[in-house]
Amino acid sequence: MIKKINHIGVAVKNLGLSAELFNKLFDRPQPFTESVPEQKATIAFYPLGESSVELIESTSQESSLSKFIEKRGEGIHHLCLEVDDLQEEIIRLKGHGFQFVNDIPSEGGDGYWVAFLHPKSTNGVLIELCEKTN
Ligand code: ZN
Repeated sequence: MIKKINHIGVAVKNLGLSAELFNKLFDRPQPFTESVPEQKATIAFYPLGESSVELIESTSQESSLSKFIEKRGEGIHHLCLEVDDLQEEIIRLKGHGFQFVNDIPSEGGDGYWVAFLHPKSTNGVLIELCEKTN
């Protein structure tokens, strides 16, 4: 079952500079920042009510995030939906013909397992599914 929008991911070139900007925008102190080697990224979270905004900076020129920024510039990168059972949702959505970037969950940071739906099958929107691990 899909529970809620967990976060909206924003691709940025420089997390330090973007954090300064978003600190002012959200009137918040320096955000919690985490390195996620599995996603070749460093992320910063701004909790906003029930969901959050995630700033993502690539740590590799070869990552899909770097390619995204190269092609489309900085901006909204993905929508993350929190589910109660990631494995079950992957099976359900595959049954409807949705394609996945990775259908084997990987560590997404902040204590979540994640899997990404391919934007080819979701009207151009990269959708991340996440399940809290603890
Ligand atoms: Zn995300």
